[in-house]
Amino acid sequence: MQYARPVELKQALELLANGKWDILAGGTDFYPALGENAPKSDILDITSIATLNGVTEKLDHWRIGALTTWADIAALDLPDCFNALKQAAIEVGSKQIQNRATIAGNLCNASPAADGVPALLVLDAEIELMGKNGTRQLPLSEFISGNRQTSLASDELLSAIIIPRMSATGNSAFHKLGSRRYMVISIVMTAVRLLKGPLGEVMTASVSVGACSAVAQRLPELEQKLIAQPFDKSLCDLISADQFSHLTPINDIRAPADYRQSAMQESVRRAILSAVEAQ
Ligand SMILES: Cc1cc2nc3c(=O)[nH]c(=O)nc-3n(C[C@H](O)[C@H](O)[C@H](O)COP(=O)(O)OP(=O)(O)OC[C@H]3O[C@@H](n4cnc5c(N)ncnc54)[C@H](O)[C@@H]3O)c2cc1C
Repeated sequence: MQYARPVELKQALELLANGKWDILAGGTDFYPALGENAPKSDILDITSIATLNGVTEKLDHWRIGALTTWADIAALDLPDCFNALKQAAIEVGSKQIQNRATIAGNLCNASPAADGVPALLVLDAEIELMGKNGTRQLPLSEFISGNRQTSLASDELLSAIIIPRMSATGNSAFHKLGSRRYMVISIVMTAVRLLKGPLGEVMTASVSVGACSAVAQRLPELEQKLIAQPFDKSLCDLISADQFSHLTPINDIRAPADYRQSAMQESVRRAILSAVEAQ
């Protein structure tokens, strides 16, 4: 077994192009997934590639480097539209986990209960993938294709998450329901981003729900309903069960499907209230 820890992105991409490597970032999903077993593939530890770190503001987008940790995100001074992401950051595991775990690892692991996904969906996040032969960008909603499935090719790594400037507006909020308050895998989690217009109306509305389908989903019908409505807590009255009909909550060790079915509506209501009250 080989272990490589390049310091240059170029070196990492060369290695990926010429062999079969398992990428290692914070290791907080990687190592638990091994259980009692030793790693089977060669390990490409990307944690020393400095250019994959940090959040930067560009002319037409925000760029979140793949190695940015949840602790980094929680500590950064970011516009209000990132509040849902910041709130999700402090709900991921414990402080120790947040100090190690990266945002890209959360997305590449592609768990239905990944807390980062709903908060990034409401920001219309795009995923930047790099390989030796070039870079491609695709929406997060296409990148995660199923439970633990992504469209990452074996010679690529996730280099950054891109938030278009046009979507970096308004205020956002995150709500997580688990079987206890902290250190818990979500039963349901929701994110909401709302932009208030000059007449006190909703100009933009983005709502997403996680842990109630293989991949977290936006709620386009509810979003449509919210547009042009008065920006106050009466928005919660517009939530109805049919807006969630494309979700497929399952029975599992954490909750029965019918509990998730009602909890997701309540979770969305609470996230909308938080976004309204924070305005
Ligand atoms: C005790 C505990 C509590 C947790 N609590 C939560 C929680 O509350 N909410 C939650 O959402 N998650 C939770 N997690 C899961 C985990 O911490 C997060 O998903 C974390 O963000 C994963 O990041 P990482 O850097 O540790 O990824 P790693 O474990 O290093 O990698 C995870 C996967 O992503 C791949 N990968 C990583 N980076 C890249 C990249 N740049 N390009 C391509 N592939 C890459 C790896 O190959 C691996 O398959 C918890 C984990 C533990 C151990």
